[in-house]
Amino acid sequence: MNHDVEIQNKKIDDLNYIKWMKCILRRSDEVGKRELPITAFIIDDKGRCIGRGSNKRETNNDPLGHAELIALRQASWIKNDWRFNECSLIVNLEPCTMCAAALVQARMGHVIFGAKDIKRGGFGGTIDLSKHVSAHHRMNVIGGILDNECKKKLKIWFKKLRSQK
Ligand SMILES: [Zn+2]
Repeated sequence: MNHDVEIQNKKIDDLNYIKWMKCILRRSDEVGKRELPITAFIIDDKGRCIGRGSNKRETNNDPLGHAELIALRQASWIKNDWRFNECSLIVNLEPCTMCAAALVQARMGHVIFGAKDIKRGGFGGTIDLSKHVSAHHRMNVIGGILDNECKKKLKIWFKKLRSQK
């Protein structure tokens, strides 16, 4: 592939990621009524959304009820496959170490996230599991997509939570 085409394709990818991230942010007020507003989408190589998940930890009293895991389960059912080498996962907050490990296990091709999580993040915030010796495939990780908007939504949510206590 020539270099210009490669750059052009990268721009198109970034634009699509921004489009999906905006969709996640638009829905965060609805998602945030009961739960920390985290939503994850899984996009296949044809640009179709094949998995969607939002935090369900409180709703289901489920420690595994993270947006990324719910999206993974749905997408693997639709794909009828547990391998995601050609897919992208998009989420508004850096996945935690549990979800990052699950994404490595699922061989996710691309992980795109918004805000960094320096307390729990599994893709550089605390540890980078995509580069860990236990990761046996190459994963492309891009953080900071609509970083400010993602941070702002979460900040407002936490502020509201504190004011309700
Ligand atoms: Zn998680």
